[in-house]
Amino acid sequence: MSSEISDLDLKEAGAQLAAESARFASFGWMRGTSGNLSVVVGRDPLRLAVTASGHDKGELTPDDVVLVDADGAAVRGGKPSAEAELHARVAALTGAGAVVHVHTVASVAMGRRAPGGIAFKDVEMLKGVGQPAHDVEVTLPVIANSQDMKVLGDRLEAAREPRMPAVVVAGHGLYVWGADPRQARHHTEVVEWLLELELSSPREA
Ligand SMILES: [Zn+2]
Repeated sequence: MSSEISDLDLKEAGAQLAAESARFASFGWMRGTSGNLSVVVGRDPLRLAVTASGHDKGELTPDDVVLVDADGAAVRGGKPSAEAELHARVAALTGAGAVVHVHTVASVAMGRRAPGGIAFKDVEMLKGVGQPAHDVEVTLPVIANSQDMKVLGDRLEAAREPRMPAVVVAGHGLYVWGADPRQARHHTEVVEWLLELELSSPREA
């Protein structure tokens, strides 16, 4: 990837993120302008296109996008969400090409119920995050929330489970990643499905 990101490249990324956001909004996962999506558009130096802050995520246009650097600071476009810094950290840490951040009810509810992490086992849907359906227990980490993205990033890095492309932030929501926006969405759908399953299952005594 070239280190020069053209306006056209950014607009194409914006169009892709707008389409993904509309889909996420239709699932009810980006209510009240919450959440943000990003796609890596350059690696050296790291550059991400991130959805612009404060907009209705069901109505984004290709121009509602901000180009940010490895610190989440705007390189071009409007004002990014402070959370852009964590998107950049996840992309640098995991090599992901796209990051999803949503405030879903299931992630917040399960983060409350299982603050030490949420273990999944013997569920066919685990195949959706590249794990065997049986005989392997995979834990979705839960980290404490912070308004300081550096602190939150350190917690994410320390708690990360390489077999699970996601982390729950307690009292807040979910970060999920994948090789590209499509895979990041599929991972989000799977993780959210697993969380909803746990939430609707009886608690163990
Ligand atoms: Zn958030």
